[in-house]
Amino acid sequence: TKNEICDLDGLLGHIVTLLNTQAIIKNIYITKDIMNTPLEIEGVSNQIKQVFINFIKNAIEAMDQGEITVKARKEDNFVVIEVIDEGCGIPKSLLSKVGEPFFTTKEKGTGLGLMVSYQIIEDHGGDINVKSEEGEGTTFTIRLPAYEKVY
Ligand code: ADP
Ligand code: MG
Repeated sequence: TKNEICDLDGLLGHIVTLLNTQAIIKNIYITKDIMNTPLEIEGVSNQIKQVFINFIKNAIEAMDQGEITVKARKEDNFVVIEVIDEGCGIPKSLLSKVGEPFFTTKEKGTGLGLMVSYQIIEDHGGDINVKSEEGEGTTFTIRLPAYEKVY
């Protein structure tokens, strides 16, 4: 069913709480910065959850310690979510490979998390952008059409 109304503030809150318990072991702190709530989109909430779990898990795996910031805001008719980490970054030469099936730089990676995430976001009419600086960190920006209440 694609017609669930997902409240991203609540959804991201649950995920951040869940993953903070894993992150804290590595001295990583996940903070949430949500503006102009409610931020609602229409879609399959379990799929949307999976997407943000994938991004935040990748961020945790990219870092030794530090902070992950999850920002969300409304921009025109879209909800824009950023997952910002201070991790190892992605080399320029590999940036275009990110999201390709089976592309992984991890010993035990599958290289499927981002592929699935890109697919889900596309299915929901959204898009994903990535900015990364080696040794500095990575920002994934996810845009999804906002749910507009019809009165
Ligand atoms: P996996 O996590 O199993 O490797 P993903 O599809 O989730 O597969 O990610 C693919 C690859 O993209 C990773 O192996 C890593 O090289 C790169 N990557 C993804 N997210 C990040 C990130 N936040 N920081 C650095 N590299 C990343
Ligand atoms: Mg992954």
